Amino acid sequence: MNYCNHCGARIERRIPEGDNRLREVCTACGYIHYQNPKIVAGCIAEWGDRILLCRRAIEPRYGLWTLPAGFMENGETALEAAVRETQEEANARVEVTGLFALLNLPHVSQVYMIFRAEVIAVDGEPGPESLEVQPLDETSIPWDRLAFPTILHALRFYYSDRRAGAFGFHMGDIIKNGDGASFVARRASPEELAPGAIASAHR
Ligand code: ZN
Repeated sequence: MNYCNHCGARIERRIPEGDNRLREVCTACGYIHYQNPKIVAGCIAEWGDRILLCRRAIEPRYGLWTLPAGFMENGETALEAAVRETQEEANARVEVTGLFALLNLPHVSQVYMIFRAEVIAVDGEPGPESLEVQPLDETSIPWDRLAFPTILHALRFYYSDRRAGAFGFHMGDIIKNGDGASFVARRASPEELAPGAIASAHR
């Protein structure tokens, strides 16, 4: 960003008074352009024993598989965003049954909120963001062609819970290190939320 959203003057990067981080600040009107993480909301949409996966018709990760999910819009709730994205990308109307996973990607300043949902109806063709939509079971999921690590980890949690016969709530962080990234699962119970309490690396 080079110019102020409000007055069009040049912005500079500096730490505003009373702050402790570099911000983009207008040199004329003083407006501070705060940048904060974006939330991606989506659904594990259950259709009987299977779930809906979409093959991406857009970059990044064109042609790879993902859960229906996308950036929240202003003025909607996370749940509304997840339902809307599922309608747009999978052409499926769903009823959400609960929040299933919260995954942080601090290196790109994104937070994923993945809900479980039941498919009420699927109508017609998928939206323009999907090449195709398939109801898949665990063995038919293209595990080596998933678009994002968040999707991989949400699905691993999902099938792990399913085998155990009970669905919980899961949190995890995808931490970039060098060319790769590691996944740190964080438990959701209060004592395990204590600072530094890392549960286990979820494989
Ligand atoms: Zn300005």
